[in-house]
Amino acid sequence: MATIDGLPPLREVIRAHDLVAKKQLGQNFLLDLNLTAKIARMAGDLSACDVLEVGPGPGGLTRGLLAEGARRVLVVEKDPRCIPALEEIAATYPGRLEIVQGDALELDAAARLNGPIRVVSNLPYNVGTELLIRWLSPAVWPPFWTSLTLMFQKEVAERIVARPRTDHYGRLALLAQWRAEPKIVMHLPPEAFTPAPKVHSAVVHLTRLEAPRFPADAAVLSRVTAMAFNQRRKMLRSSLKGLGGNVEALLEGVGIVPTQRAEEIGLEQFCALARAVAAR
Ligand code: SAM
Repeated sequence: MATIDGLPPLREVIRAHDLVAKKQLGQNFLLDLNLTAKIARMAGDLSACDVLEVGPGPGGLTRGLLAEGARRVLVVEKDPRCIPALEEIAATYPGRLEIVQGDALELDAAARLNGPIRVVSNLPYNVGTELLIRWLSPAVWPPFWTSLTLMFQKEVAERIVARPRTDHYGRLALLAQWRAEPKIVMHLPPEAFTPAPKVHSAVVHLTRLEAPRFPADAAVLSRVTAMAFNQRRKMLRSSLKGLGGNVEALLEGVGIVPTQRAEEIGLEQFCALARAVAAR
């Protein structure tokens, strides 16, 4: 059957290159090119953008991104077995696909790309959250990317978009919502992947804000939320004792009742608290 780009279907690519999935690399591949093209479209107009894709594997999403018109795609893949399959894609799209074999955690992707840059990836579960936290935590804002369109385990996706007073609410929600607008844009059942993982997945699209929603120092906000959520069931007057001084007065000064718990406090109040701590 014809594919979107005239290259062989992904099952054939996997067979030809003997790409038996490795669990330790988080390899759950998407083999339906209609689905990968749909995920690429979720990222928005790619024609005037460079795209960073982490973990292309046999290249299903890469092919979707290129077929949907991405100006240039930079892929970083840890597994050397996948490189020949990716080189075949590069030959079909001359000058538009750059392949790096290595660890995404060690790559300075921004230095290799021209803006505007979108990040689109079906992330390996073992490094997905760490990469997201890094992309959301640069010292200087705005970051190198304009949007992130990322596949996660459903539970991680829910933590990113969670609101106060819900089970999934915590530091990841605060970090993601402080300087970006995250939305779950697609749900996928385990059968969408080969091999099928044990859990459901979801695609989250995050659009960066040009400035933080509320002012705060990133390091102070991170410290305060770490303390508060490390003991999320405790009252803030006790979980934040490590801040020193009169914690109750500090909390009351920004409108927080000292007996409240971290999971009840919204982003605006955490930012106010971080500003009060910084001003002491
Ligand atoms: N994008 C492909 C797809 O959708 O079918 C594969 C996604 S699979 C969930 C994750 C991919 O990330 C695998 O190909 C794996 O080898 C790769 N990977 C795992 N750890 C990595 C790392 N630290 N840096 C770069 N790639 C990594």
